[in-house]
Amino acid sequence: MSCLFCRIVEREVPAKIAYEDDEILSFHDVAPQAPVHVLVIPRQHVATISDVPADGPAPSMAHLFAGVARTAHALGLSSAGGYRVVVNCGERAGQSVWHVHVHLLAGRSFAWPPG
Ligand code: AMP
Repeated sequence: MSCLFCRIVEREVPAKIAYEDDEILSFHDVAPQAPVHVLVIPRQHVATISDVPADGPAPSMAHLFAGVARTAHALGLSSAGGYRVVVNCGERAGQSVWHVHVHLLAGRSFAWPPG
């Protein structure tokens, strides 16, 4: 298995877990861009959100975003002034790991538009 995040799901690569359920896993980013920086991923491999098929088996994106909210609750972020959620899709957007993931960032203010 060559996908880094699949290896984290399988516990072959260590990670600091923030939240998990049957379908998703949340863990702290190794290079945090904010005081809190967690990645929320589907356990099932799909490379980018553009690769989610129109029909057929695929991770539930609704469950993934419910997992973002549950992770924020677990970390006490929901009542702490808000947080930023980011999904990079493709090289130009800055995606570097080819397993869908949602960045959950908190603990500071964020500029808009993003860079
Ligand atoms: P992206 O650039 O949107 O694909 O985000 C990939 C993220 O994965 C980056 O923020 C990296 O810092 C993070 N990352 C890479 N390797 C690991 C790892 N072993 N554990 C946790 N986060 C990682």
